[in-house]
Amino acid sequence: MLVSATEMLQKAKAGHYAVGQFNINNLEWTKAILLTAQELNSPVILGVSEGAGKYMTGFKTVVGMVNGMMEELNITVPVALHLDHGTYDGCLKCVEAGFSSIMFDGSHYPIEENVEKTKELVKITREHGMSLEAEVGSIGGEEDGVIGMGECADPNECKMVADLGIDFLAAGIGNIHGKYPANWQGLSFETLDAIQKLTGDMPLVLHGGTGIPTDMIKKAIDLGVSKINVNTECQLSFAAATRKYIEEGKDLQGKGFDPRKLLAPGYEAIKATVKEKMEIFGSVGKA
Ligand SMILES: [Zn+2]
Repeated sequence: MLVSATEMLQKAKAGHYAVGQFNINNLEWTKAILLTAQELNSPVILGVSEGAGKYMTGFKTVVGMVNGMMEELNITVPVALHLDHGTYDGCLKCVEAGFSSIMFDGSHYPIEENVEKTKELVKITREHGMSLEAEVGSIGGEEDGVIGMGECADPNECKMVADLGIDFLAAGIGNIHGKYPANWQGLSFETLDAIQKLTGDMPLVLHGGTGIPTDMIKKAIDLGVSKINVNTECQLSFAAATRKYIEEGKDLQGKGFDPRKLLAPGYEAIKATVKEKMEIFGSVGKA
């Protein structure tokens, strides 16, 4: 059964490790992430962007697939199904579809409007036993075709949003989505430290986990990050493994064209990436 992410992240914050959010795109992604979490006895958060939800034909399909898979595969570790960067309407749809967690991304609204909408969603998610993530300060990178550099959130605004009754907070600390450019300045630990001082026990979320050096990840966890989002890295490892299979001509040998064979190396590559991340984040054995 799906659970909200609140308890797993509070435990992570108290235990100084982080739980990975791995975004899913299809059956192979979901199966790879669920089985790796179970094998490593780690809690896990399955992230679904609105685009990926649409691709999988809608949030109800996603809920049906994840619930069915958890039952058929006997997944017993804590799993949260989480909307990633939701619009207000997208959040309502996921509440209705049976997600266990949502992120409302109101970072592009003026702070007053972000606060108003977040407050309404606090009420709704509490009624449904779901967890809610809010965002302050936009996270850079490509979102809807626009590439932005990572900005740093205002710690006082973070405190204001954290106090609304949300469960965990994403704050921009110079992190960006997708691949990091060569001239990236690194994470702003000064900002993170200031945010954690004001927000106390609130679990903090680091978006754009792909390509942040391991020592920076560990330092961020020390400073209160308890949820790290990984998306691009699984896509890159899946693509590389699939490219290798085809470039070696394996799809042309015997029944190598069978999708169950063709997608197998990519599936294994996602499993390896998820395992590597769970080990770095320290969530192995914490289910
Ligand atoms: Zn993000």
